[in-house]
Amino acid sequence: MADVLPPGLTTAEATQRRAKDGANRLPAARRPSVVRRLLGELTHFFALLLWAAAALAFFAKLPQLSIAIIAVIVLNGVFALIQQARADRAADRLQQMLPTRITVWRNGRRQVIEAEDVVVDDILLLESGDRVPADAVVLTENRLLVDSSMLTGESVAGAAAVGDALFAGTFVVEGDTCARVTAIGQHTRLAGIARLTTSTTKPDTPLTRGLRGVVRLTAAIAVGVGVVFLLISMLVGNPVQQAFVFAIGVTVALVPEALLPTVTLSLAWGSEQMAKRQILVRNLEAVETLGSTTFICTDKTGTLTRNQMTVVDAWTPAGSLTVDGAGYGPTAKLAWSSPTAADPVRELALAAERCSTGYAEEIQGNWRPHGDPMEAGLDAFARRLGIDTDQDRRVVSAELRFPFDPRLRRMAVVLAEEVVVKGAPDTVLPLCGDDPAAHQAVDALTDRGLRVLAVASSPRDGRTPRDQKQCDQGLRLLGLVALQDPPRDEVSESLQACRRAGVKVAMVTGDHPATATAIADQVGLRFPNSLVLSGADLPEDEQHLGALLDRDGVVIARVSPEDKLRIARAVRSRGHVVAMTGDGVNDAPALHEADIGVAMGESGTDVAREAADLVLLDDSFAGIAAGIEQGRATFVNIRRFLTYHLTDNVAELAPFLVWALSGGLFPLALGVLQILALDIGTDTLSAVALGAEPPAQHLLEGPPVRGRLMNHTVLRRAFGLLGPLEAVLSLAAFLVSMLALGWRPADPFPTGHALAAASGAAFITVVFAQTANVFACRSSSRWPGALGWTSNRLLVPAALIGLTLSLVELWVPPVARLLGQWNPPLWGWVVALSSMPILLAVDALDKHLRARHRRRSPSSGSPEVGHSKSVERQGLPKKSGCGG
Ligand code: ADP
Ligand code: MG
Repeated sequence: MADVLPPGLTTAEATQRRAKDGANRLPAARRPSVVRRLLGELTHFFALLLWAAAALAFFAKLPQLSIAIIAVIVLNGVFALIQQARADRAADRLQQMLPTRITVWRNGRRQVIEAEDVVVDDILLLESGDRVPADAVVLTENRLLVDSSMLTGESVAGAAAVGDALFAGTFVVEGDTCARVTAIGQHTRLAGIARLTTSTTKPDTPLTRGLRGVVRLTAAIAVGVGVVFLLISMLVGNPVQQAFVFAIGVTVALVPEALLPTVTLSLAWGSEQMAKRQILVRNLEAVETLGSTTFICTDKTGTLTRNQMTVVDAWTPAGSLTVDGAGYGPTAKLAWSSPTAADPVRELALAAERCSTGYAEEIQGNWRPHGDPMEAGLDAFARRLGIDTDQDRRVVSAELRFPFDPRLRRMAVVLAEEVVVKGAPDTVLPLCGDDPAAHQAVDALTDRGLRVLAVASSPRDGRTPRDQKQCDQGLRLLGLVALQDPPRDEVSESLQACRRAGVKVAMVTGDHPATATAIADQVGLRFPNSLVLSGADLPEDEQHLGALLDRDGVVIARVSPEDKLRIARAVRSRGHVVAMTGDGVNDAPALHEADIGVAMGESGTDVAREAADLVLLDDSFAGIAAGIEQGRATFVNIRRFLTYHLTDNVAELAPFLVWALSGGLFPLALGVLQILALDIGTDTLSAVALGAEPPAQHLLEGPPVRGRLMNHTVLRRAFGLLGPLEAVLSLAAFLVSMLALGWRPADPFPTGHALAAASGAAFITVVFAQTANVFACRSSSRWPGALGWTSNRLLVPAALIGLTLSLVELWVPPVARLLGQWNPPLWGWVVALSSMPILLAVDALDKHLRARHRRRSPSSGSPEVGHSKSVERQGLPKKSGCGG
């Protein structure tokens, strides 16, 4: 390939152009403008409800109320916008972490650079799996197929010939090519297209559906209760105008306006936490889905192992060689079985190296792999035998290459004199007459957990094969090479963590069953009697397959990409939430099919990364386990601030209830404007802080967090315990203040200043109680003291800001007058302040009793799950996690 190429740009030329034309940055999918977004925020479901309330208030001749509600809508809109912007910034930061390296031809040699640094006239060396980084024209190609669905929506990949144009954003799905860049960045065709189309859209995630349920339910309750109040207050003979105030107040009190933006921000926060652990989240909601994962299909190479491949053994019919030396450097200790082995092993090494594109290279004194690490290992092996592979590549160039085919599991090159095939022994040995000695050698090597390749060749004899099959004729076995790929250190521990968390793990690999089994044993994935299956053994029937695989520690070897897809489907049909790893071009469908597609940042292809929800930047399995933990934490956090919001709503609703039950005689302890002030002042910041609660320690100690977002625990705590408690406290403060100001039960109820002071007491009591509640909501099973009061760093400042704001609303005359409240008497303050310890004490007592109850009947599930398992296990629909 190298000889037909022009020398390419020099570094100096490239630097100059980069300075002149700027970075090759593809335009990001355009986000809607701020105005548009604000409009969206002002017209979404909750906002429309509030607008309706504002309109009603206006027609009921209550302009202040109307204006206040509009202020709430606008404030909420702006708040949501800020949260969105933060979430977007987080997403952008993550996007920048995605690896975008590309190989170019500069200074007459290959160089790997950032896609951003590609300039016009650069020569791109692209191969299967690469994303085309700029518009270019094809100079040479080898069986090139390009997927242009990103640009055209055409889902079938098309061939591209010399002279054809390649467009930025498309993918090379087969073959390889050299192409000269014609346009970069803003000048590419992609830049002209405003919105990118994606060929497959994922179905709604459990979270989306769960949230939609919560929104519908609360809205229905809010409107329903509002209407009932309107009717009651008209029945008890209130003037229509007052009836309206109450109805609107109730509705506004119950609408959790800030819920959705808070969820978004919480997910963004979760994804940033994951990024710190080298896990890149490509779509926000994957954070939560990952937490409900119950089955992981992991590959072996790179994920369980380090993907540092060294040839440790070579076998030929004439003798063998053992190599001792780690890394990709050219020195190692060699031990020959017999002097006659030297020539055949050299021939084997040379053929293996010629049939590879990956190689080892020395960068600043360090030998590193370039391309496929296994092929780099082969190159290093040849160097260790004294072969100058750089020189060899210059002299002997491949006329044709048939790249590795994961279905056939072999590849071929056509050289001037010969055809070389290398691949899995079980596909290559039958082509060379099935030497029994070779089979024996394979068994011995794979049993040691080594990855074994067979290499064979045939004389060219003037023919030109058209495909892999035509390369397979007349082959003579040159020998076997066995490579070692040590397991990663952290894998065993992560596997145990997954097990404790009730997640089943299966190994799905293209490698030999014996190699796979040996590695599975080394990392502790397999149990002594676990199943070991081969792709070819998998039953056709999906139900059968699902039943067969639905156990922990299964090893499935020799799988093709199609098998992976079937495995994902079958396991999902058993009700599992499946995470599936993949790295190749052909893995994309399986990554899409799984609930969570996981691609590799270091070794994976761009195509796989594009199809995945998650990218493991360091390729390690430990990342998946860490991600599950973070995902669970995020889900639990959403429940936490849901509990917090709903508690507040109960306290806000109570005064209306008392008023209605008293037939309109007992004065309203909290006015509508005070409720709005509470919703904005105390709730928003603290809820955001709750969304950033660090993961609890026991999160991985039990089955996945599943069930509805608004589960039994949330409902019980908000409506059965904390809400009523807050309501009682705030009404008590109201009553005590009235008494302190001279009112006696037989008297008519106070009005004016006394009422305002009593109302102020009710208001500040809710504020204090909520301040305590935000700490209580940090866990559904442990009291906040046990968590450490300051272990969520955002919470204390958020609570302090909320408190300050509320005191301003109570003490600054114009604001207080508008809200209809005033500084309460001493006894009102006493009740208000005591609401904090009371709430914490009641909450701690409740948690204590629940814990005792759980210990007695351990079947009631882990604390954060807090719902009976039987409900969750029943016929889960596809893609179900928590939406139920
Ligand atoms: P894994 O699941 O371990 O990543 P792969 O699907 O990449 O396995 O590979 C399956 C088998 O195909 C390997 O065991 C090896 O025998 C063979 N193979 C993989 N890569 C190459 C290659 N570049 N050239 C020849 N054979 C290969
Ligand atoms: Mg592989």
